[in-house]
Amino acid sequence: MTLVERVLASVDAATDELVDFTCDLIRVPTVNPPGDGYVDCAELIGRRLATCGFEVQYLAADGRPEHTTRHPRVNVIGRRRGRAERPLVHLNGHFDVVPAGAGWTVDPFRPTVRDGRIYGRGSCDMKAGLAAAVYAAEAIRRAGVDLNGSVEISGSVDEESGGFAGVAWLAEKGHLNAKTTDFVIIPEPLYVDRICIGHRGVYWFEVTTHGRIAHGSMPFHGVNAIEHMGVLLDRIRRELMPKIAGRTTAMPVVPDGARHATLNINGIEGGQKVGGIQTPCVADVCRAVFDRRFLIEEGFEATRREIVELLERAAAEMPALRYELRDLMVVHPVRTPDDSPLIGVLDRALQRVLGKTGGLVASPGTYDHKHVTRIGGITNCVAYGPGILDLAHQPDEWCGVDDVVNATKVIALALLDLTGTA
Ligand SMILES: [Zn+2]
Repeated sequence: MTLVERVLASVDAATDELVDFTCDLIRVPTVNPPGDGYVDCAELIGRRLATCGFEVQYLAADGRPEHTTRHPRVNVIGRRRGRAERPLVHLNGHFDVVPAGAGWTVDPFRPTVRDGRIYGRGSCDMKAGLAAAVYAAEAIRRAGVDLNGSVEISGSVDEESGGFAGVAWLAEKGHLNAKTTDFVIIPEPLYVDRICIGHRGVYWFEVTTHGRIAHGSMPFHGVNAIEHMGVLLDRIRRELMPKIAGRTTAMPVVPDGARHATLNINGIEGGQKVGGIQTPCVADVCRAVFDRRFLIEEGFEATRREIVELLERAAAEMPALRYELRDLMVVHPVRTPDDSPLIGVLDRALQRVLGKTGGLVASPGTYDHKHVTRIGGITNCVAYGPGILDLAHQPDEWCGVDDVVNATKVIALALLDLTGTA
């Protein structure tokens, strides 16, 4: 048997353990918000990494306001040095999951394996991916192969809420940095045969309209802030929506509908609380929150300017309109460079394991890639892992056992190739 064949056979031999470990991870309800069970899950990963020959470090996100005694934010990193220090390949997975929600036919935190599928909250997003990372490295060790470089595996917190105490914090503290780390693979569920090269940008903003309160029987004495918001929403619908829907990115964002720029109205509130006791008053304030997904080709500055100009045009036509624009969050788009060795390496591994490759994709949302590149300065970063993206966050979430095994093989071959071992 060749070295590669030995490693692939060693993944097959570990299938039961791989599935069991995925189930063990699902059993810890690391629900975010609020961030439950993080210490237990970090320790579960840390203990497994230690038995697989990793040096393990627990890293609490000191200094972050969400890192509290009640809900500590603890990340874990394991490091295994091979025959050489570099290249260093880092595999990162978040272990937080979104709340189970309604509509489950199985217990979300008591994983079931049925018909070749692992069911449970976080099976797909992304505890199977974490297990695949651990067993990719372990299969190499069990095959008696010493890497020509090092491998690191991290389990991190809070990806679902922005990753600020997780990957962003790790990158800020130098644990994920271009000076020490050569390649990063994030085994997020973006289809087992595809390589994800980044994501669009996010601009969350809040618009407040201010009116003047008056008696509701004489509304002409006041200025209604909700009516003004209505005018703004109408302009957004008529002027902005068609314009941005017509813009298409060259990035291979999936699904097709997300190849364009989009805008969603997250929420709106104004005037008196609906359902509460009513008094006759003209609404003096109205607020709405927007989620604008922008393309790498648009850029943040132009995206924001377009909103500012729309508001200014509306104000010029409606002298009574008083408004404020507040930026809530900006995530810049990221894209793996076309010539990154990661793409070719994963492509070859996919051909070897699956006999085909589904090509490149980009995520409709965002994931921790942004922090790896923007804060850590590591451009050689992709997402590749088991699971079907569409099942993430859904009731009866599942991940195929075949997917986990195949992704583990692909990641193992990528580790061999990236370190020049085979
Ligand atoms: Zn995820």
